[in-house]
Amino acid sequence: MIKFLDLQKINAQYTIELQNAFSRVLNSGWYIQGEEVFQFEQKFAHYCGTKHCIGVANGLDALILIIRAYKELGVMTDGDEIIVPANTYIASILAISANGLIPVLVEPDLSSYNIDPSLIEKKITPKTRAIMAVHLYGNMADMLSINSIASKYNLKVIEDAAQAHGAEIGGKKAGSWSSASGFSFYPGKNLGALGDGGAVTTDDDELNSVIRSLGNYGSHQKYHNDFQGINSRLDELQAALLSVKLKFLDQEIAARRNVANQYLMRINNPEIILPKLDKDEHHVWHLFVVRVNERLNFQRYLSTNKIQTVVHYPIPPHKQKAYSSLNTLNLPITEKIHQQVVSLPISPVLTNEEVDTIIDIVNKYEG
Ligand SMILES: *Cc1c(COP(=O)(O)O)cnc(C)c1O
Repeated sequence: MIKFLDLQKINAQYTIELQNAFSRVLNSGWYIQGEEVFQFEQKFAHYCGTKHCIGVANGLDALILIIRAYKELGVMTDGDEIIVPANTYIASILAISANGLIPVLVEPDLSSYNIDPSLIEKKITPKTRAIMAVHLYGNMADMLSINSIASKYNLKVIEDAAQAHGAEIGGKKAGSWSSASGFSFYPGKNLGALGDGGAVTTDDDELNSVIRSLGNYGSHQKYHNDFQGINSRLDELQAALLSVKLKFLDQEIAARRNVANQYLMRINNPEIILPKLDKDEHHVWHLFVVRVNERLNFQRYLSTNKIQTVVHYPIPPHKQKAYSSLNTLNLPITEKIHQQVVSLPISPVLTNEEVDTIIDIVNKYEG
């Protein structure tokens, strides 16, 4: 079986360095908020090209804390609206509703799978406070258009960069295009920890300070609480492991790009709709998502031929039971995407033989 994503193999590349990092933390006797987190935050901020990085417990918390900080700063309040793509992973939307704000869903562009900027303006109301851009599958949203709409209406922009570490537009990286960005280091993400982890990047000093405090019980100074915060911190251990993996991120992105280029050049089955690419340096190929009409049939065929696939995602947020009030929304592009998408295996450790096999078998699919 060709695995969809072989995490064991990915991390095994760095066994010695990861073990050294583990030993360093074990022997330090200091496991929360120490030198490892500080060092990783500096390195990741530098990598993204932002002034600040705040390590948090996971990607969902990163997004929740950004909005929560804007509430503490009086920029947003209960009942305000945030514009978000309708076809995102549920976490983007949870971060908005968890804060008592309203997610306003906008259809994506069928060729990029990212929010369609031409549909944003008609969704702006006096209650709109922000646009959350999601760089879905590792491909940057159209940040130039999004930022120009935001500045016209005086809105904040938040990036959900959980799938896009290292993606860029014109050399400017994901996480540096907005007021604040949320990253996830969930093990399967392009920069994955060996457990949960996340981060916020921002250039805003005040936001940095409030988010840092909010994630640490609302405290800057032990036993002094300025906010009713939560406990959402990146562990020393995960930070140490992430510092190792960050060194290899660009190399891993290049390997993913190589696989994606092979697929794009050599998959030529008319039944399969390939992802479109403007300039490939933007895309970090967290996922390689194709569309087919009879998805289940296609997945069964690949599985019979020992190729594992996954669907990102089978049910759109507005059709989830958790969002019953959104169930009646009419979002045909989002629904079409959710019915047709299939993710082929892509990873930095997929071998050339495996890529050849996948291409060969996909090309022989008869619909
Ligand atoms: C993974 C992901 C998140 C959430 O990250 P966690 O670390 O799993 O909480 C948020 N948004 C998107 C688009 C994601 O893919």
